[in-house]
Amino acid sequence: MTARQWSDYINPVVKSIPPSGIRRFFDLAAEMKGVISLGVGEPDFVTPWHIREACIYSLHQGHTAYTSNHGLPELREEIAKYLARKGVQYHPGREILVTVGVSEALDLALRAIICPGDEVIIPTPCYVSYMPGTLMAGGVPVTVATSMDEGFRLTAEKLEATITPKTKALLLCFPNNPTGAVMDREELLKIAQVVEQHDLLVISDEIYDQLTYTGEHTCFASLPGMRDRTILLNGFSKAYAMTGWRLGYAAAHGDFIAAMTKIHQYTMLCAPITAQMSAIEALRYGETAMRKMVEQYNRRRRLVLHGFKEIGLPCFEPGGAFYAFPYIGDTGLTAEEFAEQLLKEEKVAVIPGDVFGPGGEQCIRCSYASSVEDLTTAIKRMGRFLKKIGKH
Ligand code: PMP
Repeated sequence: MTARQWSDYINPVVKSIPPSGIRRFFDLAAEMKGVISLGVGEPDFVTPWHIREACIYSLHQGHTAYTSNHGLPELREEIAKYLARKGVQYHPGREILVTVGVSEALDLALRAIICPGDEVIIPTPCYVSYMPGTLMAGGVPVTVATSMDEGFRLTAEKLEATITPKTKALLLCFPNNPTGAVMDREELLKIAQVVEQHDLLVISDEIYDQLTYTGEHTCFASLPGMRDRTILLNGFSKAYAMTGWRLGYAAAHGDFIAAMTKIHQYTMLCAPITAQMSAIEALRYGETAMRKMVEQYNRRRRLVLHGFKEIGLPCFEPGGAFYAFPYIGDTGLTAEEFAEQLLKEEKVAVIPGDVFGPGGEQCIRCSYASSVEDLTTAIKRMGRFLKKIGKH
């Protein structure tokens, strides 16, 4: 009998999932000095002081215990009020679950609804967790590539063409990571119609809802008929610069929340109380500080778009989040080659678009959640790089 390797003990589904393509670039960049990173997907701001103060105060008060599985009632009430302002009503007691980031909420949503072999339609380019998350839940990710010509939006026609009898859910993310694309109400209404006709569920990751620059964000669950078909995910990482606090939530029909809570209570028990206490402060009094950060992102968005134009890098105008997704197809390099050479020669870290799935192969993701100074230098360096490789 041949000896088994330890890796033979690993679940084949887990084994089949490649490590995140983003990590590889972080590791490369970390080994070098003087790198400007446009690679990270997180705010460069520190959490506003009054939110941090609420955390310190809660510790002074001795709030160090577990909370209810669902999360603190005051927090769920604040979340319900916030979502009501976005046009959709949820019962704070039955229809909202506080989670460890949107990451956990996404995992719970997928595990609560997916049966082996169920297909989940994922418009791509998309956030790197969607496909592995679907696979680990036993589902089959079915990608539908959006394109720069369509502004990286999902069309009803494309969605319709991807649906099979096995389709269970559609996973939406607008504003989008990595493209920055947004979809307006009219466009989403068309998607909603297809969803209704084919009796699908929707997981809507709206973590970037506050970071919308070109119009009002439409909450998918607020569209007619969509509330009870949608598991709405949102959190505090982006809007309030709270990535390290690990706090998010799901809002949905009580049956979905009950199923998700079952998994949550046996795996996570509850989200950290300190983060929950601070999130109450964020929702009650964080609007002004948040608006200031959003203004800064918008300023940087314009700076980056203008800069790319100047150096001759075509870029679709992102309407939300804090990413630009310029097209590098004219350079004759693959996105991977472009990102690797740019890092080695000009010390600017970007993420090759192919790591976000079909549709991203000829683009790179540049996060503009960086200082104006760093962004200006990075664009200069990118311009020099384009000249060097003969594309300007
Ligand atoms: N969804 C999207 C689209 C994201 O970009 C991110 C973070 N990069 C997450 C979810 C995870 O967020 P959280 O910190 O709330 O887990």
